[in-house]
Amino acid sequence: MALIVQKFGGTSVGSIERIEQVAEKVQKFRENGDDIVVVVSAMSGETNRLIGLAKQISEQPVPRELDVMVSTGEQVTIALLAMALIKRGVPAVSYTGNQVRILTDSSFTKARILQIDDQKLRADLKAGRVVVVAGFQGVDEHGNITTLGRGGSDTTGVALAAALKADECQIYTDVDGVYTTDPRVVPKAQRLDKITFEEMLEMASLGSKVLQIRSVEFAGKYNVPLRVLHSFQEGPGTLITTDEEESMEQPIISGIAFNRDEAKLTIRGVPDNPGVAFKILGPISAANIEVDMIVQNIAHDNTTDFTFTVHRNDYLSAMRVLENTAREIGAREVIGDTDIAKVSIVGVGMRSHAGVASRMFEALAKEGINIQMISTSEIKVSVVIEEKYLELAVRALHTAFELDAPARQGE
Ligand code: ADP
Ligand code: ASP
Ligand code: MG
Repeated sequence: MALIVQKFGGTSVGSIERIEQVAEKVQKFRENGDDIVVVVSAMSGETNRLIGLAKQISEQPVPRELDVMVSTGEQVTIALLAMALIKRGVPAVSYTGNQVRILTDSSFTKARILQIDDQKLRADLKAGRVVVVAGFQGVDEHGNITTLGRGGSDTTGVALAAALKADECQIYTDVDGVYTTDPRVVPKAQRLDKITFEEMLEMASLGSKVLQIRSVEFAGKYNVPLRVLHSFQEGPGTLITTDEEESMEQPIISGIAFNRDEAKLTIRGVPDNPGVAFKILGPISAANIEVDMIVQNIAHDNTTDFTFTVHRNDYLSAMRVLENTAREIGAREVIGDTDIAKVSIVGVGMRSHAGVASRMFEALAKEGINIQMISTSEIKVSVVIEEKYLELAVRALHTAFELDAPARQGE
């Protein structure tokens, strides 16, 4: 008998019919003799709807109150799913994050899980109940409701699996696994049987929203066997694994990730003195703005240009901070661009192959796509390009690295 944590995402619980289907699925696992903990998201669109309501009151809602509100989405689906299970004769009980006591820090809207009390859950499982837990939410030490950041139900699922030492954490969603890139953008994308934690972590942090980054971090840290599957289609899905050897047989590049959420800022004509990078980025980090890519040009005329990217939501605040800095340090000008996108190729195979970056640049050059910034790590190469070329770039790279699915007959 296995203990399995199953997480169902927003589209999988997006209507009463779907919730009934999920209940049927859980019932089958239960009848197989497995112990099941289910984590659910809010119905698709609900979290956005709730945020929209808050924004009608204030452009920047108070984070604590925002969390009180957005956490309600998941409270509805846990109760509906528990009802659907009980209707089928499956004993079930639903809990909010607070009721379980999923203890987090107090960073509202992006809280981190610190500890999970597994007592209640274990007692319910022992009594033969399916436990249905609200994803995306927790409680801080003062009893405030917190949420874990968008897509956070994945993390709830993995964290519960870690706390309960579950045999597997299954992430059920609207695709049948992790693909070489977002199948909505590249129809020829292929499902991967396996991907390493390291690669999945890069893919997630570079924009592939199929799994929340934190959930992959957690799974890697606590060695939780993690699988992404389709909610309503049979199939093996994708296993996230530590097993690098087998993945090495795959192509050099495992996947392509992209991100439209960044913006670029450049400060020009900066006097080239020691400490200048700190003078520019110190105030940005003091304003709690995270910086992603950074490029500093070689100095000429004793001045240099300095470019970096931030999340698009932080663009205006970063611009205000940078304009202040420019005045203080006597830089020539500050310019910015929000019409950018970042495209990244990811693969552990890169470690043992030379020329991967140049192959990437060649593919982009062939399409006439200009590269504005580049950054590399051991297993990824990222470029910033004009946003309007994003889809073209992803498709071109997918083909160049031989990731396209073979054409089916008649195509
Ligand atoms: P859920 O609501 O179930 O959490 P998400 O929308 O968060 O679902 O994640 C699933 C979506 O992730 C897919 O519909 C797909 O468009 C997108 N996606 C992005 N990159 C990938 C990828 N490499 N493989 C699979 N899906 C991806
Ligand atoms: N409902 C939350 C969101 O939309 C959490 C999740 O779906 O994972 O971000
Ligand atoms: Mg998700």
